[in-house]
Amino acid sequence: MKSRIKYWINPRHWSRLSGNDIDLLDLKQHIFFSQLCVVGCLFTIIQVVDDFYTLNWTLIPIDIVAIAIWPFGWWLNERGRHLLAKCIMIAFMNTLFFVMCGLLSPSIRFDMMYFPLIMLTFIVLGNKERLVAIGFSLASIAFLTILAVTDQRPFGDIIIMAPNKYQEVLNIVTVAVFMGASAVFILDLHGRAGKILHQQKDELTKANEELDRFVYSASHDMRSPLISIQGLVNVATLEGEMSPSSKEYFELIRNRAQKLDDLIKDITNYSRNSRLGVEIKEVNLQEIVEEAIEKIRFLENTKSIVVNRSVIGQPKVATDGGRLSILINNLLTNAIKYHDLTKPSPFVDVIFENSETELGLTIRDNGRGIEVKHHDKIFNMFYRASKNSEGSGLGLYIVKEMVEKLNGTIEWKSTYGQGTEFKIRIPHSPE
Ligand code: ADP
Repeated sequence: MKSRIKYWINPRHWSRLSGNDIDLLDLKQHIFFSQLCVVGCLFTIIQVVDDFYTLNWTLIPIDIVAIAIWPFGWWLNERGRHLLAKCIMIAFMNTLFFVMCGLLSPSIRFDMMYFPLIMLTFIVLGNKERLVAIGFSLASIAFLTILAVTDQRPFGDIIIMAPNKYQEVLNIVTVAVFMGASAVFILDLHGRAGKILHQQKDELTKANEELDRFVYSASHDMRSPLISIQGLVNVATLEGEMSPSSKEYFELIRNRAQKLDDLIKDITNYSRNSRLGVEIKEVNLQEIVEEAIEKIRFLENTKSIVVNRSVIGQPKVATDGGRLSILINNLLTNAIKYHDLTKPSPFVDVIFENSETELGLTIRDNGRGIEVKHHDKIFNMFYRASKNSEGSGLGLYIVKEMVEKLNGTIEWKSTYGQGTEFKIRIPHSPE
C-alpha cells in the first residue's frame, strides 16, 4: 500500500510509467483512475468554494458528499478493488450530474459534464469491462435524454442557482481538462503499446537469428564426424575377409549413419532457407532434373521405377536454383520412397513447365498414396503419414517453407492406393 502511494504520488508517473512491461498497461489504467480521483477532488473543492461564497445551503450538503466520494473511490482503488471503485464513482457521477442539472440554471450548462464522463467511463474500465462501460454510457445517454426532453427541469421549476458566469466558465474548464487528460492518456498508452510491440519484435527477431545460427553451426559440426564414420565403415568393409554377422553390423551402421546424415541435411536446408534471401541466377531445368535423378539412383526402390521427365518451354530460366534443387529432390525422393512396387508398372513423372509468367513443377507417382486422415497435416514439421515412413518428417515442411519464400503456391492431391501428385508454381520474379 505504502509503495503504491509513493508510486502514484511521484509526478513522473502521472503521465508516464517507467519500464515497458505489457502488464504495466493494465496497472496504468488503475493509476490513471487514482489520479482522476485526486484531480476530481480538487475541481470539486473549487466548485464548492463558490457555493460557500454564495452561501447556497441546498448545494453545500451535495458538495460535501461529492468531495468525500473522490477520496473514497481513490481508497478503494488503491486497495485493489478497482472495478468496485470505478463502478461506484461512475454511478455516483451520473446521478450527481443529473441532480445538479435539474437544480442549476440551464445556462450554466452543467450537462456538458456527461461528455468527459462517458469518455472516462470507457477509459478507466478498459477492454475487459467494455460491457459495463456500455451499460454506464447508456445510463448517461438516458439521463441526457430526460434532461433534453424536460428542458433540464426534471424536478419541476426549482432553480437553486441563478445564471452564473463564473460557474459556466469553471464548467467549461473542467470539461476541457478531463477531455484533454483522456486524450493524453490514450495517446500515451498507444505510444507505449507501440514501443513494447517494437521491443518484443526486436527481441524475437534476435532470438530467431540466434537459434538459426545455433542450428546451422551445430548441424554443420555434427556432419564432419559423421562423414568420418561413413568413410571408416567403407574402409573396414573393403579390407579383407569378415564374418557375415560383422558385415551385417557394418551395413546397419552405414544405414543409420546415412539416416542421421539425411536428418542433418534437412535441418541445414531448413535453416539456410530461413536465414538466406532468394538468390536468382540462370539455371538449366534439364540439368536440375538430371542431377535430382542422379541423387536418387542409390535409393532401394529406384531400379524398379520408371522416372519420366520432361521440360516444357525454355529450359533456361532465371530463378533460385538452390531452392529449386531442394524442392525437386525432396518431392522426388518421397515419390520413390513411398512407391508401391506391387503395381504392374510403377512410374514417377517429373515435369517442368516454363511459361511466360511462372515456372511449374509437377511430380506425380502411382505409388501408395496418402490416407485422407493425414491430408491436413502432411506439411507439418516432423509429421510422418505412415508407419513405414523412415524419414525425419521434415521434407514436405521444408518444401512448404521454401515455396512460401519464393512467393509460390503448392497444389496437391493423393488417393490412397492409387498415387500422389504435387504441383508447385513459382512466379518468375519470386522476390
Ligand atoms: P518424411 O521424412 O517422413 O518423408 P515428409 O515431410 O517428406 O517426411 O513427408 C511426410 C509424409 O507424407 C511422409 O511420412 C509420407 O508418409 C507422406 N508422403 C509424402 N510424399 C508422399 C508420396 N509421394 N506418396 C505417399 N506418401 C507420401
